[in-house]
Amino acid sequence: MKIKEPFYPSYHTKVYQTKKGTSYLKEAGVVLVAQSIPDYLGVRKFLQGFNKRLEFPDYLRDRVELDPAVSLSKFAGQTCYMSFGPKRTWNKDADRYLANIVSSGHGSVLEHANFTFLLYGVSRSLTHELVRHRAGMGYSQESQRYVGGPVLRFVERPEFQKDRLLHQQFEQRIDRVFAEYENYTSKLEELQKEGLDIVSGEKVTDQRKKVRQAARAVLTNETEAIIIATGNLRAWRHIITMRVSDHAEIEIRKAIFKVFLCLRKVSLLAFSDYKIVNLADGTKVVKTDYPKV
Ligand SMILES: Cc1cc2nc3c(=O)[nH]c(=O)nc-3n(C[C@H](O)[C@H](O)[C@H](O)COP(=O)(O)OP(=O)(O)OC[C@H]3O[C@@H](n4cnc5c(N)ncnc54)[C@H](O)[C@@H]3O)c2cc1C
Repeated sequence: MKIKEPFYPSYHTKVYQTKKGTSYLKEAGVVLVAQSIPDYLGVRKFLQGFNKRLEFPDYLRDRVELDPAVSLSKFAGQTCYMSFGPKRTWNKDADRYLANIVSSGHGSVLEHANFTFLLYGVSRSLTHELVRHRAGMGYSQESQRYVGGPVLRFVERPEFQKDRLLHQQFEQRIDRVFAEYENYTSKLEELQKEGLDIVSGEKVTDQRKKVRQAARAVLTNETEAIIIATGNLRAWRHIITMRVSDHAEIEIRKAIFKVFLCLRKVSLLAFSDYKIVNLADGTKVVKTDYPKV
């Protein structure tokens, strides 16, 4: 069984600096870092274990290549009915097979294909919304208790980018917040060295963590919160439907739209029911007749 060569699209984004050197970004960077790649070598022996008349091993001789996610979902679906013989749906008709799964709401077979994204240039507001999606998702997020100082960056809201005064105020605010954060950090470290019981913690990393967990109180929602998000195809379809919609907040809408573009490049078939619609504000949303599979 041949699968298409997997590839890993990304959308990078520029890092800006205020005159005082505070770093910020204007939109999300999205990088696909991992995906499920099936290997059918071991399946041959399994298929050979059935009556020869069924011709099950021929299943693996299908010459039409599918992308890894669709190939795996189709294999999972066909296992349900032991549909490996000559009368099965062949890879050339995988579009019909997928359409049937999606339209009948039997989306559990899409849960086998996982995709892992790195999202950067996203604010704490965005990640707070993203992590509300629990089913089929896993997250690892930059810790504000461990990471701070020179790694701190901010994300400018699209509304602020469009107005000179709001943009200026944004730059002034992040300079101020950065300085305030540094002041709190040094003051708390100083108090710790003086032996005052303000921050406790025996190990150095533990002390630093306790200093930062207090100092982060001054950070705004526009602080960057880098996150790794892994989700299966079914979960990503749901998130895309919910978040690349006109009801969704604009920052998450634009970021998840990039996730959608990456996934569609990797597996066009799995998103063939999605249509892109342009909104009056210049952003894009996606629509499908099958929002919940
Ligand atoms: C435009 C918009 C506005 C929002 N506004 C608010 C708001 O004001 N306040 C707020 O708190 N949240 C808000 N949310 C978040 C929203 O309520 C959901 O928590 C979030 O979108 C996660 O989606 P989900 O519930 O489908 O969960 P997911 O984890 O993405 O789950 C996918 C699906 O699995 C099923 N599922 C998951 N978990 C369970 C479960 N425990 N029991 C049964 N079925 C389950 C459901 O069918 C669910 O739709 C908003 C979301 C959007 C898109």
